[in-house]
Amino acid sequence: MSDGPTYGFDTLQIHAGARPDPATGARQTPIYQTTAYVFRDADHAAALFNLQEVGYIYSRLTNPTVAVLQERVATLEGGVGAVCCSSGHAAQIMALFPLMGPGMNVVASTRLYGGTVTQFSQTIKRFGWEAKFVDFDDLDAVKAAIDDNTRAVFCEAIANPGGYITDLDEISKLSDAAGVPLIVDNTSATPYLCRPIEHGATLVVHSTTKYLTGNGTVTGGCVVDSGKFDWSASDKFPSLSAPEPAYHGLKFHETFGPLAFTFHGIAVGLRDLGMTMNPQAAHYTLMGIETLSLRMERHVENARKVATWLEADDRIEYVTYAGLESSPYFDRVDRICPRGAGGLFTFAVKGGYDACIKLVNALEIFSHVANLGDARSLIIHSASTTHRQLTPEQQDAAGAGQNVVRVSIGIEDADDLIADLDQALSKAAH
Ligand SMILES: *Cc1c(COP(=O)(O)O)cnc(C)c1O
Repeated sequence: MSDGPTYGFDTLQIHAGARPDPATGARQTPIYQTTAYVFRDADHAAALFNLQEVGYIYSRLTNPTVAVLQERVATLEGGVGAVCCSSGHAAQIMALFPLMGPGMNVVASTRLYGGTVTQFSQTIKRFGWEAKFVDFDDLDAVKAAIDDNTRAVFCEAIANPGGYITDLDEISKLSDAAGVPLIVDNTSATPYLCRPIEHGATLVVHSTTKYLTGNGTVTGGCVVDSGKFDWSASDKFPSLSAPEPAYHGLKFHETFGPLAFTFHGIAVGLRDLGMTMNPQAAHYTLMGIETLSLRMERHVENARKVATWLEADDRIEYVTYAGLESSPYFDRVDRICPRGAGGLFTFAVKGGYDACIKLVNALEIFSHVANLGDARSLIIHSASTTHRQLTPEQQDAAGAGQNVVRVSIGIEDADDLIADLDQALSKAAH
């Protein structure tokens, strides 16, 4: 099928990037479980290695099953190309890798997935990269943090852990003015709820582990390129604009135009970093994406019901869901994620740390796990798990105070979820 812009989201989530298998007519995308691909002849091999012809060489770089997923996610996000990789965290490194160098920095939101805070504040230092964390609701602070060595601005569309909504329109004005790309982690929103490229994002990253797969089976990641950034407008991005010695001095931007970032991601990123997605993982994620819109609608509907019920309950101090009128982010929902504020939020329990521990122990449908975006409802008490190394002050600043739990609302019956929370909160009160 040709992926014309006339097709709606529900059609594209099933068809984009896929066509019946040319060899067998198989209607579902086959799992191409192969490491290598036979060259037609020596000239064909040489053309592939010179990037003069696009094709399959070796599955560390490209694989036909993974390629279908790449085209599917790129289409749903409204990008020109995408590179899949082994996890969401790999996608973040793959996105930054062509942009950064020793001494360069990324200006990042303080409201991020906990693992990303660790990756950015600790691990990337080993590459000589630095992250400058700022409150992305304070636009002056974001502007002030961007300096001559900044090579990217990074945030989540619907941000962890509280489901806060980032004002992508305002943030992209700042990154544009500074001539640096905006990278948006769209994991919690998915392209069904939010399309960051329409709000000025240059690159969109995903942990496909979460809602895109939707059933907690495989880890994966994806970097989508909008194709809109002019990598040659300054000398800040030599990986994309200057001659590449490993390809006889080829310049990615000059040669591949809007696909420069995608080609670099495959021909240099996957080739040398090797954070490859395997075809089995791509298959599970393709299966999941076929029902993305249906699941997201239910996630949103259930989250709204559960959050509304919790907010009215005496045992609860507050609920952070942006879909509630009480949220300071409520008026951003229509503009940034018009189909709903997602399925992720936190709530604070009267009775503090001990009550939270009893609550997670007493729940029957909710699973106590360090994951989100599963069909099943999940809960985590961050202060005793993912954030336990932090001081109470740091926990509060991260939105993961002693009395706070984070939930990822699944697609079960909302009434059952509410009844489960009700019985567990009763036990937590004693
Ligand atoms: C899970 C997650 C990640 C990391 O993805 P992995 O697939 O676990 O590596 C990054 N960002 C967000 C928002 C996430 O939820």
